[in-house]
Amino acid sequence: MASKFSSVIDHYPEYRVDIGIEVHVQLTTQTKIFCTCANGFATAPNSSICQVCTGQPGVLPRLNGKVVEYGVMAALATNSQINKRSRFDRKHYFYPDLPKNFQITQNDLPICKEGHITIRLEDGSKKNIRLIRIHMEEDAGKNIHAPGGESFVDLNRAGTPLLEMVSYPDIESSYEAKEYLQTLRRIVQYLGICTGNMEEGAFRADTNISVRKKTSTQLGTKVELKNINSFKFISDAIEHEIERQIELLESGQRVVQETRLWDTKDRQTIAMRSKEGLADYRYFHEPDLPVVQIDDEWISRIKSSLPELPGDKCDRLLTQYGLTLEQAEILVEDQQLATYFEKAHALSPSKQTINLIVRDLLSLLKEEKTELASCMIKPEHIAQLVKLLDTDRINNRAAQEIFKHMAKKGAMPEQLVKELGLEQVGTSDELERIIHDLVAGHPEQAAQYRAGQQKLFGFFVGQAMQKTQGRGNPKIIQELLKKYLA
Ligand SMILES: [Zn+2]
Repeated sequence: MASKFSSVIDHYPEYRVDIGIEVHVQLTTQTKIFCTCANGFATAPNSSICQVCTGQPGVLPRLNGKVVEYGVMAALATNSQINKRSRFDRKHYFYPDLPKNFQITQNDLPICKEGHITIRLEDGSKKNIRLIRIHMEEDAGKNIHAPGGESFVDLNRAGTPLLEMVSYPDIESSYEAKEYLQTLRRIVQYLGICTGNMEEGAFRADTNISVRKKTSTQLGTKVELKNINSFKFISDAIEHEIERQIELLESGQRVVQETRLWDTKDRQTIAMRSKEGLADYRYFHEPDLPVVQIDDEWISRIKSSLPELPGDKCDRLLTQYGLTLEQAEILVEDQQLATYFEKAHALSPSKQTINLIVRDLLSLLKEEKTELASCMIKPEHIAQLVKLLDTDRINNRAAQEIFKHMAKKGAMPEQLVKELGLEQVGTSDELERIIHDLVAGHPEQAAQYRAGQQKLFGFFVGQAMQKTQGRGNPKIIQELLKKYLA
């Protein structure tokens, strides 16, 4: 199968690339991880803070049980092994947005480990990307650097619950990286634990990239790409970085272990800080929080509340409805749309249903810039339209017309067919008379056609459609034309 996606690595057949990704998932709990401050996008700076999340002396953190529940959900959805006893640690560093000078995170005993998620490759096959671990932690605040040189600290985000999901370097291309991130984002969105909004920083990816000769069994020196907030930019940055690293090695230089940023304007990565050696964060167990205990009963309760996950949904849609992978993926991308399709299909099971939804409904929504939820066309409308098409009462052109009117008024297709006079000129008698007259009225063209000018057939079809004002059943018209032109 020809590859639709081309990568810079294709030009260096002796090299391979290894990519590992750390994703920070901001959880949508009502309150923060260790205090009762509201969690979310507070409007005024420093308006959703207290002594705990600003690190005042003498206060104690209290773990939000919802965060653990969301962690277990993520663990189950990524086939991970849950640690029934996990622990929090302090990770020390100094930065103005972290007033207590340490972040509470999980170091050696995270909530879960050794999972995997399944991605689809370009040829439709599946690949597992393994997860090293998922751990719970708190987010820091935000430093805001104003144009005049002044800097401010907003601590609203401090104490926001995060899950950090760390993959093995199993990802081998920018395509796989994008698939991995999209798949992971869909999972947390299906679980309802994260909005997945990258622009708002609710789903953030740090990507570690290294290249090596295929003959080498050791991973190359990795470079970390930080703070990239779109799938497209991540993919572009990886491509650029693969090329930069291979060129360094080819010219006899070495890759420096460092963190780099993606410059969207100049389309290149730029060095941010060197990361030679491991930073010493002086980890130690958080003395103010007890060990987190998760029992089997809780796990099975959470398990039974999980929704159907995107990968399972995709497999089911493929087999249950005989959809193409592309159609199934469009539905899986939007949970609401998938439900919509299944409702419409249940009302009138037909191959037409999926076409009307992924082709006509989606392009209409795009054209009118409307959301599915506020669209006047409901599954009942689609189902009735499908019936009209399947029984040959209307043709595709009429269906398009009905679509436009349904979107405006929400009227049912049956009613619109009558109102707009769109019923097919379907009875053969009526069509037969029209075709008979048509061929009789164009003796010259008919003779030319019979003499071998095949393309004149199209002329007759066009004439017939005109005579029926577009309401003729194209199949019957063609059959009749063949009969009279023979
Ligand atoms: Zn607080």
